[in-house]
Amino acid sequence: AKKAGRGRYRMFESGMDALLLGRREMEIDLRRALALRQFKLNYQPFLDVSTKRVDGFEALLRWEHPVKGNIPPLSFISLAEENGLIVKIGEWVLRTACLEAMSWPNDMIVAVNVSPLQFKADTLLETVASALRHSGLPAHRLEIEITEGALLDDTDNVIQTLNAMRALGVRISMDDFGTGYSSLSYLQKFPFNKLKIDRSFVACDDADSEAILRSIASLGTSLGMSITAEGVETAEQLARIRGERCTHVQGYLTGRPMGTDQIPAFLAQHIL
Ligand code: C2E
Ligand code: CA
Ligand code: CA
Ligand code: CA
Repeated sequence: AKKAGRGRYRMFESGMDALLLGRREMEIDLRRALALRQFKLNYQPFLDVSTKRVDGFEALLRWEHPVKGNIPPLSFISLAEENGLIVKIGEWVLRTACLEAMSWPNDMIVAVNVSPLQFKADTLLETVASALRHSGLPAHRLEIEITEGALLDDTDNVIQTLNAMRALGVRISMDDFGTGYSSLSYLQKFPFNKLKIDRSFVACDDADSEAILRSIASLGTSLGMSITAEGVETAEQLARIRGERCTHVQGYLTGRPMGTDQIPAFLAQHIL
């Protein structure tokens, strides 16, 4: 699908499409965004279903554009992947997330999304190690979230990098599991601590989604992984995923993304 997307992009280029002009502008702005400090991270809590305690927070990138306002990550990350900026942006995310997590109470984990392109750049391990070193964050408090796209090619190299991160003490999560190029063999091949089941299986209450949710959860559990249900918005959904052996929950029901400075107050309310 990505390739088709890029093909379309080239076609529009010759046609001087208005959308493309918007895209060019966005690319120019994106190149400056890091230097102008327009990025910030929000953090969404994930909770242990059985203890109801907050285990940690996922870092979610925000771009505060001076004219266009807040631009959601899905509308600029693929552009940043196409032009390679994601590597620098990803370094900033890792460094900032580790630094900010240092000020949180109770050994909270920080989970950071990593693009497949960062694996290709071959500097990921060093970036992770140096973010830990500079912040002083203990490795066990960092979780790296990868999507299936990262596992597609150069498999041996990816496994090596993931194992090296595990050796540092960093945790690895498989994000958006069940979408895209999912293959059950990945669960055996790659060293995941956690599976995150995509929101689409959590939101739907039809028999098929429920069966998929149940199978993924039980497979992951028997392979020794913890299981996070993503995008839980209602008490009914929470009850359902609890019944399906999910170990963790993340969604608007249990907490919206927030700034790092809101975290202490949020945690204070959550003490059982
Ligand atoms: P994701 O990793 O699956 O992150 C979860 C997304 O679901 C977030 O959207 C979050 O705000 C949203 N969400 C959480 N709970 C709920 C809920 O109950 N209902 C609904 N409808 N949505 C919920 P967001 O922040 O817009 O991020 C979108 C995607 O952008 C992320 O999906 C991730 O793939 C990517 N992304 C975000 N930050 C980064 C980053 O620092 N680096 C990279 N490479 N990708 C990032
Ligand atoms: Ca994620
Ligand atoms: Ca996800
Ligand atoms: Ca997603």
